Amino acid sequence: PPRFDVDAMRGEFPALHQSVYEDTPLVYLDNAATTQKPQVVLDRMARYYAHENSNVHRGVHKLSQDATDAFEEARQSVADLINAPSSDQVIFTRGCTESLNLVAQTFARPQLGPDDTVVVTHMEHHSNIVPWQMACEATGATLKVWPIHDDGTLDMEAGRQLLAEETFLLAMGHVSNALGTIHPVASIIDTAHAHGVPVVIDGAQSMAHLPVDVQALDADFYAFSGHKMFGPTGIGVLYGKYDLLDGLPPYHGGGDMIDEVSFDGTTYADLPHRLEAGTPHIAGVIGLGAAARFVRELDHEAVHAHEEDVLQYAHEQLAAIDGLRLVGTAPEKTSVCSFVFDDIHPYDAGTILDRLGLAVRTGHHCTQPLMERLDLPGTIRASFALYNTRQDVDRLVEGLDRVQTMFG
Ligand code: PMP
Repeated sequence: PPRFDVDAMRGEFPALHQSVYEDTPLVYLDNAATTQKPQVVLDRMARYYAHENSNVHRGVHKLSQDATDAFEEARQSVADLINAPSSDQVIFTRGCTESLNLVAQTFARPQLGPDDTVVVTHMEHHSNIVPWQMACEATGATLKVWPIHDDGTLDMEAGRQLLAEETFLLAMGHVSNALGTIHPVASIIDTAHAHGVPVVIDGAQSMAHLPVDVQALDADFYAFSGHKMFGPTGIGVLYGKYDLLDGLPPYHGGGDMIDEVSFDGTTYADLPHRLEAGTPHIAGVIGLGAAARFVRELDHEAVHAHEEDVLQYAHEQLAAIDGLRLVGTAPEKTSVCSFVFDDIHPYDAGTILDRLGLAVRTGHHCTQPLMERLDLPGTIRASFALYNTRQDVDRLVEGLDRVQTMFG
């Protein structure tokens, strides 16, 4: 099997090497919320601010040319990572949330009417529910919910029926942030296209774990955030098929997105700039470019084997704890373990775990409809990244033992 040097990988992430509450070494298990950043990303952003800082796309001066080059190289790095046919199809946004809102407001809203339906799954993150709800409310369209099974997989038969019912659009996650389920998006997109339904994929949780090829998936739109794939916060991406993006009306108006402005009317720039009004998050884009290269250069087979090992180990260890129940047991999963205790509230458990240096997330994970469907107030979620280890799982299990002793 391919070898993965997890210690060397950990060495690249400074935030992992610290203690919290005086002397307790940190175990960071909140990667689905945001990942830590490798030194190459931190260095690249510092270099921009220290040596290249200037505005992009306008300056005739050297610094502005350097910054613009770095900015557009980053766009190419992102395009290469997801195998976009052209970097013009990589639109920079503030994050996955803004990418989804952009599609909802410029693609869906102008076309939707009272007879139309948008479909989302029952396990979407709020940011892949609310933008569609807003577009439906504004146009009289209907939002329909693709039902799920108790194990956190989609009810495929119900989905096929929904897609056959003259659906305008399907919006769904690639990987569930709450349960870790990997959805079979390639075959779902196939089925959707057979019915003429375009598909928007929320890729927030896939980028740090799966190779993503937007052309192989045949995704119409693919949205993600930099900060969940080892890049900075405040920067995200919307990929789209060229003709779809090119047909979108402008989203925000302002500088950088125009061709010519006069009070008689304004003409707009070509892609990608037409959808990127104002001074962009230049350092963020450049940092994201470094993160994209970092991910692209990984030995994916070796990383995958390591992540699988840690996830399986975590499943085994957690399943062996009396009174603990794993939530979400889909056969195809990434590095997320959601679980509950029979008699301890997730928040109480999380508070104790925090004092023991264990950074986990508790609550509804921005998936309230899913929690309601599963009849849970929330879960405790340990989410792993490529730098987590079996020892991290052991620390979690020790922590959970303390939680049970305190509340048992
Ligand atoms: N979708 C999913 C599945 C997510 O996990 C998240 C972030 N938790 C988002 C969308 C939104 O991403 P952001 O907050 O970076 O815009």
